Amino acid sequence: MTDPKSIPLPIYGENAHFQVSRDLGSVKFGCDLTVCKGACCTMPAAAGAPILESETAELERVFPVVQKYLSEESIATIEKHGLYERDRDHALTIPAIRGRDCVFVTYDDNSNVALCAIEKAHRAGEIEGFPKPISCHLFPIRIYPTSGKDTYEIVYEEIAECKGGRARGKREKISVLDFLELPLVRALGEDRVNRLREALEQ
Ligand code: SF4
Repeated sequence: MTDPKSIPLPIYGENAHFQVSRDLGSVKFGCDLTVCKGACCTMPAAAGAPILESETAELERVFPVVQKYLSEESIATIEKHGLYERDRDHALTIPAIRGRDCVFVTYDDNSNVALCAIEKAHRAGEIEGFPKPISCHLFPIRIYPTSGKDTYEIVYEEIAECKGGRARGKREKISVLDFLELPLVRALGEDRVNRLREALEQ
């Protein structure tokens, strides 16, 4: 029998409520890095990737391990701005270099694909328990807080950079829910993901 302590809790607690966009049930999607070159780590934006309050401690924990994968420019930006900052709306975000590259970006030597240094270290077994911030792990599914207490909306965000991912999803008949099953379970827990699937199938 599995030790209950070894089962990670979902990030969103049991009292959280979700509104789900219906198109989540029909979108076909599977990242194609050969087309996008990891564009979601390098997109121009007013702010960097959003993170949760609970993830600030994780970023501090993994930084000493992942810093060997980061450029001098990333390290300099982190020294100046920190591992996270608050935007104008007080939301927590990861700093970006000149409004583009995430400070945690690293590049694959052979393909020049942008990768998350945290994910790289996690895949190499150098860190445990934190594959990357959940907003990045779930992208292009996004979970936005609404004005209601502990209430969120779950949407699929269609952006031009993911054109190759949509083409691969259609070609290989991959649903976005299947492709992002792991981060969805990490965020919501297995029971809620099963209920989400059932609701979208009706
Ligand atoms: S989410 Fe979109 S931009 Fe990011 S790796 Fe996947 S297809 Fe590329």
